Amino acid sequence: MSASGWAQNGQTLNTADTYISTMSSSVKIGRIFGIPIYLHLTFLIILPLFVWVFSSESLRIFGITLGFEGLDTTMAVEYAFGTAAAVIFFATILAHELAHSYVAIRYGVTIRSITLMLFGGVASMEEMPRKPGQELKMALAGPMTSLAIGLVSYVAMIFVRELAIGTVAAEGLEILLGIIAFYNVLLAGFNLIPAFPMDGGRMLRSFLATRMSNIDATRRAASVAKVLAAAMGVFGIVFGNIFLIFIAFFVYMGAKEEEQATVITESLEGFTVRQLMNENVQTVHPNISVQQMMDTMMATRMMGFPVVDQGLLVGIVTLTDTDKVPKERAGMTMVRDIMSRSVVTVRPNLPASDAIKLISKRNVGRLPVVDDSGALVGIVTRKDFLRMVEIMEARRKGATWGPPEWHLQHERRQHPPPPQT
Ligand SMILES: [Zn+2]
Repeated sequence: MSASGWAQNGQTLNTADTYISTMSSSVKIGRIFGIPIYLHLTFLIILPLFVWVFSSESLRIFGITLGFEGLDTTMAVEYAFGTAAAVIFFATILAHELAHSYVAIRYGVTIRSITLMLFGGVASMEEMPRKPGQELKMALAGPMTSLAIGLVSYVAMIFVRELAIGTVAAEGLEILLGIIAFYNVLLAGFNLIPAFPMDGGRMLRSFLATRMSNIDATRRAASVAKVLAAAMGVFGIVFGNIFLIFIAFFVYMGAKEEEQATVITESLEGFTVRQLMNENVQTVHPNISVQQMMDTMMATRMMGFPVVDQGLLVGIVTLTDTDKVPKERAGMTMVRDIMSRSVVTVRPNLPASDAIKLISKRNVGRLPVVDDSGALVGIVTRKDFLRMVEIMEARRKGATWGPPEWHLQHERRQHPPPPQT
């Protein structure tokens, strides 16, 4: 990616479905219900940590032994049990995410992927279900699954204990079941905290959304999360608990992100790229010299241009591309020699909220808009989207100013006239 913010990866976006997000810091391990399952790099740190904690711990809470340290056996066997417990625990986290996904799929939401990472799992979905009741059920499915796994494991642990077999294998199994029970109940409890990005935050939002707009519900739920995060942070600082400070930060950022994402998606609802794009694009021809291109840059104070030949977009050239050309050769080198030929582009009919997602995901400043024939029809920038979000925000707050043509277009798209019969 160049410094001036052009994506340089050939991909044209037509509908949201064609865009599959894959985090480069993740490894794909398989597919369940057709959903790709990824392991995030942070998972590689957290898994050995859990193995270590489970293997070297002998703490007892509520009659459950939380580690294999007390087993009358070798360290190797303790670590084998610890590894088994850690792997099974992460499988139960995956079950938690799959439960969310299963309900989401039933409501017609597309799940892009599930990633196991530092703080458990993350299911990435195309969009949230719109009906508050659906979101509630979807959010509840995860913690309920964890709770069910926890209770079943607890009962199984008691059963193994009552058998009183007395072998290391039986004792190890009892501890393993206890660990799975304890951490799944903990996971369910943690996720029921009514704060974003935990499931409880979504449940609170969907509850609030039954009595106010989705955007206001998200705002309220996010403020609750921020207050909880601040309280956690203060506690963490007072008691010197780094872990608590870490979680407070995670909750705060999650709440902020959720709030912003909702404001952006709701504000851009009904708009397409065509309505936001700028049609008067300064372009350059591939056969002009780098010197001429730099003169144009100077005159227009732009950092990059789409390169267009007979109306078709053939590449992108930016200020950074000129670094490759020594000053004395700038008059002889052509733009076509230094331009990037693969560019992320969008179609004019792409929903604006999908385009802004692409912009943040690729960390680019602007996207060229091309039609089906590959002809450049416009350009849309991050600023175009954010300006629109601001206008819609002002409208929501009851401001009477703002370009009237925008909300006319918006209204038309949201409330199509009834069909003539
Ligand atoms: Zn969850």
